[in-house]
Amino acid sequence: MSKKMLIVGGVAGGASTAARLRRLEENSEIIMFERGPHVSFSNCCLPYHLSNMIEDHEDLVLMNPEVFFKQYRIDARVYNEVISINREDKTVTVKNVVTKESYEESYDKLILSPGAKAIVPRIEGIENINMYTVRNVVDIAKLNTCIKENEYKNISVIGGGFIGVEVAENLKEAGYNVTLIEASKQIMRPFDYDMVQILHKEIYDHGIDLIVGDKVVKFENNSIILQSGKKVNSDVVVMAIGVTPETDLATSCGIELGETGAIKVDQNYMTNDKNIYAVGDAIEVYHALTKSITKLPLAGPAQKQARAVANHIYKIPSRNTGFIGSSCIKIFDFNAASTGLNEGMIDALNMNINYDTVRVIPQDKVGLMPGSQPLHFKLLYEVPTGKILGAQAVGKGNVDKRVDIIATLIKTGGTIEDLKDLELCYAPPFGTAKDVVNMAGLVASNLLDGTFKQVYVHQIRELVENKEFIIDVREKDEYDAGHIIGAVNIPLSEIRDRVNEIPKDKDVYLHCRSAQRSYNAALALQHLGFDNIYNVAGGFMGLCFNEYFNDKVTGRDSVVTNYNFK
Ligand SMILES: Cc1cc2nc3c(=O)[nH]c(=O)nc-3n(C[C@H](O)[C@H](O)[C@H](O)COP(=O)(O)OP(=O)(O)OC[C@H]3O[C@@H](n4cnc5c(N)ncnc54)[C@H](O)[C@@H]3O)c2cc1C
Repeated sequence: MSKKMLIVGGVAGGASTAARLRRLEENSEIIMFERGPHVSFSNCCLPYHLSNMIEDHEDLVLMNPEVFFKQYRIDARVYNEVISINREDKTVTVKNVVTKESYEESYDKLILSPGAKAIVPRIEGIENINMYTVRNVVDIAKLNTCIKENEYKNISVIGGGFIGVEVAENLKEAGYNVTLIEASKQIMRPFDYDMVQILHKEIYDHGIDLIVGDKVVKFENNSIILQSGKKVNSDVVVMAIGVTPETDLATSCGIELGETGAIKVDQNYMTNDKNIYAVGDAIEVYHALTKSITKLPLAGPAQKQARAVANHIYKIPSRNTGFIGSSCIKIFDFNAASTGLNEGMIDALNMNINYDTVRVIPQDKVGLMPGSQPLHFKLLYEVPTGKILGAQAVGKGNVDKRVDIIATLIKTGGTIEDLKDLELCYAPPFGTAKDVVNMAGLVASNLLDGTFKQVYVHQIRELVENKEFIIDVREKDEYDAGHIIGAVNIPLSEIRDRVNEIPKDKDVYLHCRSAQRSYNAALALQHLGFDNIYNVAGGFMGLCFNEYFNDKVTGRDSVVTNYNFK
């Protein structure tokens, strides 16, 4: 007999479940309830309405109920909120939020995909400000209309996660004075502190007042008061400090929550009721690398879960391999992508794991080609197994392709040996014959073999302060254009002739622009009997990016005579 399926929530997880259910059976009855005015809209594109990249907010809606019915025979009911679930009778009570009328609907299977809501903290004075959150088409249209109609100029965004950063970027592109406030010392937690400095710089250079490491303590008239005492004038505040799963409906009928406070599901996304499944931002998932339960509010996982639920209802097996957290973002001219573990995460979770990192900055395509750009790439791998744990890429070109390769390798248990061996497409407009990821694999393999030793750009300030012996192996004109304070210039082309200038009785640190020439210099010196050589991973360019933002906002002394970001 055909089944009757009810779905709560009509966007990423809900609409995907509905469509897959229909593909698996033509005669089932599928009703999808959405309390808002739209089903199947693009949450991820919402910020781009603020810069007018997506001019009409109605374009954010991908499909309407009529099309759902015509193309899929799915009964999508907007303005219909499911207000309670009666598990014994297998019915739900639905309220039409326009007419206020309620009715009941029975189910064989119920799928919850109610998403998450923006966290709004209780901060003194919050009730008196012009505050917005961004979750759906109505939210973004309201925010955009408010700032335009009132001709507001000063807008603050609180929270430096994906949504906060994208909203800030698009508001800046639209010409507003934007302040982005983040309580922790960095924005964008999927990136390590060293990599995120590139993004800090990009935001700062585009004129957003980026404030990190400072917390909002109260709102007063048109001002935000920060813990440091700083006052930020704002006509409008966008609150983007994170999201919390929508669990009220689930808990009101005894659906269990897990340790993170999200809905607990088994490997098939079934709740503690065998007739009720849950997917998307409302649930918690298994992280395949941390081996722990976590929340992962992203669209890709929601869609995968949706397919798995529909399959399970029709007894089609799907293997749940867990999640590793892959994501990407565009911030002005830079793209950034990450997957798997990063150092911050390993630290925060106190993971007992022995790992090392590689940082390379090759060109993303052949240097002669127009648009060739440096690609900052960081790889984490386990020591001694070489198992790949995570990667981050930041650059103006194709970062997502590189990180997707790493995500694929992680999911298949790949190692740095696999990475260096990968045979990837190459032609000059696309990449280089030895792609960034191959290069990262080679460097990691050399490190693991003990071929050379390295230090990281975040250690350089201390080395400079301690007046350590640093050699800049770039050519003289590069050195003259900007160098590390106190560094000696011995170009790679001269190093073999000038070994008598290099001490053997103390550590010597070599760097070039991106760490490639200095790696060659390090090997040459090692072959000539030096065992005290360290290569600076990331080189001078990595160092400049690492230092710039903090130099500018703190006014501290720079460790370089001039920056070089190319
Ligand atoms: C601004 C923004 C940008 C984003 N960018 C990205 C990105 O670039 N990449 C990425 O991977 N992810 C991104 N996301 C996250 C992604 O959109 C979510 O992870 C995904 O939409 C989750 O799907 P979901 O079905 O769980 O929830 P949602 O898509 O939020 O859908 C839940 C729906 O359920 C409805 N609902 C809730 N309770 C009820 C009820 N009782 N009755 C009826 N309806 C109900 C809600 O009104 C809501 O419309 C972004 C999110 C936002 C807000």
